[in-house]
Amino acid sequence: MIQDYFRSDLSDFKSYKVSKNDYKVRMDANECFSNLPQEIRMKIAWAIEECIFNRYPDAGASMVCELYAQYSNVKSINVMAGNGSDECIQIIANTFLNTGDKVAVQSPDFSMYGLYTRVAGGIPIEIPLGDEFKLDVDGFISIVNKEKVKIVFLSNPNNPTGGIIKRDDIIKIIEGCSCIVVIDEAYFEFYGETIVDKICAYENLIVLRTCSKIGLAAIRLGFLITSPILMGELKKVKPPYNVNAISQCIACVILKDSEIIYKNVERILLERKYLWQKLSNINGIKLYNAQANFILIGVENAQIMKQRLLDAGINIRSFTAITLQNCLRITIGSREENQCLINNISQENIGNI
Ligand SMILES: *Cc1c(COP(=O)(O)O)cnc(C)c1O
Repeated sequence: MIQDYFRSDLSDFKSYKVSKNDYKVRMDANECFSNLPQEIRMKIAWAIEECIFNRYPDAGASMVCELYAQYSNVKSINVMAGNGSDECIQIIANTFLNTGDKVAVQSPDFSMYGLYTRVAGGIPIEIPLGDEFKLDVDGFISIVNKEKVKIVFLSNPNNPTGGIIKRDDIIKIIEGCSCIVVIDEAYFEFYGETIVDKICAYENLIVLRTCSKIGLAAIRLGFLITSPILMGELKKVKPPYNVNAISQCIACVILKDSEIIYKNVERILLERKYLWQKLSNINGIKLYNAQANFILIGVENAQIMKQRLLDAGINIRSFTAITLQNCLRITIGSREENQCLINNISQENIGNI
């Protein structure tokens, strides 16, 4: 049978389901709510016109890494570009994991850490968060060391909880865990704090970043930032030409004019404040800490609310995990989208009374 050639350890895997994309209001995937302005898109079009299509792209995306290094105040030798930070996660897992090696993650946290760990033959250990999705830092460190974990992955701010681990605690984790510590700062721009300044102080630290949440999800571009010693090892595994020439070209246009990014972030933060305020006025909704470009809410019945919003053409994120059973994650939308969501949620609550 052809199935005899399949990997037995992948038999319970399911392909990643992306929800249908044709809803009027898309508040499910933590994207930026607006497209790039037309003048920037024209600039991109002109830049692409100059692309050399018959040759492979710059294998190390050197110009992009140089510009991203400036953007994040590090040196370009500390930056590696990936086809989305998803690919960076996979490169990390493939670089450091032998079959059976353990990886520690919080539960809940971004699901790709566990997935790529397993694909690389590793074993994810899920360490549950406590009340209000808070991490018990000392408990976490002691499990990591007792289990002889090889890699820790933590998103900060956390997707999906929106919560954060304070700088002192991040440092405690980096110093306390005898393993590689990956801090995924996918939502850095909406939080404002970073640990990237410490990449050369701690040789076990890797920081991840992405362009996906700040208005460039389409081009699939993420970054891994680390010390030269880990970088050398990671480069053995990184596929050459992993970032295509068109994405490199577009990223250069944007990163040369980072005002575009700051403007997107500013508008999202303004809308986050608006949405937070409106949601907090509705009875029966619990708001969790919101330090990213989304707000996690707790409701009586998440499935019912999700379906009613879908019926109104609004897509938000629900979860299957037990810890998130009554939670919904709402990506910050435009003012109109946020109002539309609020109208539909409050109508539902009035209907319930
Ligand atoms: C969205 C997200 C990513 C993925 O980013 P891509 O660059 O689009 O692959 C990584 N980590 C976290 C925590 C995210 O929420």
